[in-house]
Amino acid sequence: MRLVCWRCGFQTEYRPGLYVCEHCGEPLLVDSDFRTSLREDGTLIPRELRLVTLGEGRTPVIKSREGIYLKLDYLNPSGSFKDRGAVTAVSEALSRGCKLVIEDSSGNAGISYSAYAGRAGIKARIYVPYDAPAGKKNMLKALGAEVVEAPTRDEAARLAVSDPEGCYVGHRINPYFLEGMKDLALELVRGLGEVDYVVSPLASGTLLIGLWKGYMELVEAGVVKRVPKLVAVQACGYESLTKYYKPCVSVCRSRAQLPDGIRLTDAPRLQHVAKILKELEGLYAVIDDELAVPYLRELWREGVVAEPTSAYGYAVARELMKEKSISGKVVVILTGNGIKHVSGGMTI
Ligand SMILES: [Zn+2]
Repeated sequence: MRLVCWRCGFQTEYRPGLYVCEHCGEPLLVDSDFRTSLREDGTLIPRELRLVTLGEGRTPVIKSREGIYLKLDYLNPSGSFKDRGAVTAVSEALSRGCKLVIEDSSGNAGISYSAYAGRAGIKARIYVPYDAPAGKKNMLKALGAEVVEAPTRDEAARLAVSDPEGCYVGHRINPYFLEGMKDLALELVRGLGEVDYVVSPLASGTLLIGLWKGYMELVEAGVVKRVPKLVAVQACGYESLTKYYKPCVSVCRSRAQLPDGIRLTDAPRLQHVAKILKELEGLYAVIDDELAVPYLRELWREGVVAEPTSAYGYAVARELMKEKSISGKVVVILTGNGIKHVSGGMTI
């Protein structure tokens, strides 16, 4: 396993705890022998990053309105796609002897880390914004994590990075976390063959970059011919990607309140996200609660218990299909489970 920087080309053999490029500060990527992993284990994820499991991945796909495919990644063990990355990030932390992992999170990543740390027999300390959904905070505590509240999501990130104890494993910069996302691409290929568009919410970019990386490896391995066009969705008031990429849709009447998973004003991997979207001719949309809520309600009324952040992706897919901006085989990744919200008192 090696580490590489997409921006300046820096490369190094694996070094415990090294997450960002020594030359330019960009979060690194893992370069692994994915062909061997695929051939021997049926996965793109290296064996040394699969030391712990709760049965994550292989989530179902169902067909919804307008023929849109919904990837139900909220059915992962702790209720979000982040379980995929927690497996690989906790495995790397375990392999270098960490007994305490530290993360900043709006909820889902912290919950995933807490679940997998518990499974691995180590401790987790999670910095959350004070206004994180009550159901998510309750869940963190139930999983045995130490919860530290911060005034904002951005402040939670700053506090976690500067915590002098334990191993900081933050998903926003962690190359190993990102590595765990790759099998999403593999599962889509196995379930649906080639697809045209994959739509997902965008906060730190781990899903989008992980999906792209998985697809790139599958192209290199000759499994598929091309990477689908990716569609990134952000919320009004938190449109951090506009610094680097122009949205094709922007419907902003008010600052978003509901999608806690994407209420982040900055993230370290956004330039890489923009580069990927540019290369793939991908799309970027920014919408508000007013547009997303009817679609959230629609999902729930059909028994799809996705969280508000996921409904943002679904809303954009539906709107773009309606106006014929996208067509063909369209997949929406439903990233998080809404039960965490409803159990904390939210009504839909
Ligand atoms: Zn670099």
